[in-house]
Amino acid sequence: VPRILSGIQPTADSFHFGNYLGALRQWVDLQDGHDAFYMIADMHAITVAQDPKVLRERTLLSAAQLIAMGIDPARSAIFVQSQVPAHAQLAWVLNCLTAFGEARRMTQFKDKSAKEGEGAASVGLFTYPILQAADILLYRPAYVPVGEDQRQHLELTRDLAQRFNSRYKKTFKLPEPHILKETAKIFDLQNPTAKMSKSAPSPAGIIELLDDPKVSAKKIRSAVTDSEAEVRFDVEAKPGVSNLLTIYNALTGRPIAELEQAYAGRGYGDLKGDLAEVVVDFVTPFRTRTRQLLDDRAELQRVLSDGAERAGAVAARTMEQVYDRIGFLGRDA
Ligand code: ATP
Ligand code: MG
Repeated sequence: VPRILSGIQPTADSFHFGNYLGALRQWVDLQDGHDAFYMIADMHAITVAQDPKVLRERTLLSAAQLIAMGIDPARSAIFVQSQVPAHAQLAWVLNCLTAFGEARRMTQFKDKSAKEGEGAASVGLFTYPILQAADILLYRPAYVPVGEDQRQHLELTRDLAQRFNSRYKKTFKLPEPHILKETAKIFDLQNPTAKMSKSAPSPAGIIELLDDPKVSAKKIRSAVTDSEAEVRFDVEAKPGVSNLLTIYNALTGRPIAELEQAYAGRGYGDLKGDLAEVVVDFVTPFRTRTRQLLDDRAELQRVLSDGAERAGAVAARTMEQVYDRIGFLGRDA
C-alpha cells in the first residue's frame, strides 16, 4: 500500500476550516488504502516565539482534534515530531544540501516574517521548509496531502531528494503533493484574499473548529462580502461570497451551481445564516468528542508514544542509510 505523510503545527488552540477542508479531511479519507503517518509539528511551532506551557497543551489539543475528526490511531500513526530525533538529524543534512538563494525563494518566509521584519525573524523560520523536507523524506511517502500554500515546499522537497539521490545514491522517493482542487485554499472571512491561518493577526475571520458554535455563527454572519447582492461564484470579482460557497459546498456536497440557484434573488443574509447552521451542526459533535478525549490525557499520551514508536522505527532506518551514504563514520556495533 502507498504511504502518506503529512503534518500540522500546534500553533493555536484550535484547528480551523482551512486546515480541515484543505488538509485534514484528506488525512481522514486517505487512511483507507494508505499507510498513513500524521505528525504534530511542534518543532515547526518554535520557529516563532511560544510559551512552553501553551505549546505542550496545544500539542495534546492537536492530538485530541485529530482523533475526534476521525484519524484512527489503530490504523494511522499519530506522532509528535520532537519525539522522533531523526527529523532534526536529517534536517541538518538537508540544510547542507540547500543553496542559500534557494531557501530565500520560499515565499512563506516573506509572509511570516513581515510582521517582525526579516532581520528579527529566526533562522529557524527561514529554514523551516528544509526541516519540512526532512519530515517528509524520512518516510519515503508516495503522497503528501496538504493545502495549496505548501506546494512550493513540496517542490523544494523533491529537489532536495533528487539532489541527494544523484550526489550519493538513490535513497529518497520523490513525493507528490496531494492537493484538493476545490478547497486548496480557504480564505479569511474578514480578508477574503488572504489565506485563513492559525497565526493570522486577528481571529475575526477564522472559523475555528473548537470555537463556541455561537461565535462561529457570528463570524460567518459578519463575513466580508461585496456591495452587490448576487450569490455568484467568482473568485476574482467576489472573493468573499465565493469563499462562503466553497465552504458550503465542501461541507454539504451540494454543487456550487445548485447553491447559486437556491440563493438567487435572496441576498447574502440567507446564505450566511444557512452556512452558519451547517457549520454549527458540524462542529458541535466534534467539540464534544474532542473534550471527551482531553479528559483522558494519559490515553492521548499513550497514543502519541505508540505513534512515535512506529514513526521512529521507519525514520531511524532511513537515517542510518543517509549517514552511511554521506560518509559519516558509523560507531562499531
Ligand atoms: P500557521 O499560521 O501556524 O502556519 P496554518 O493555519 O497555516 O498555521 P499549518 O499547521 O501551517 O496551518 O498547516 C496545516 C495544513 O493545513 C497544511 O497542509 C496547510 O497547507 C493546510 N492549510 C492551512 N491553511 C489553509 C487554508 N487556508 N486553506 C487550505 N489549506 C490550508
Ligand atoms: Mg501554515
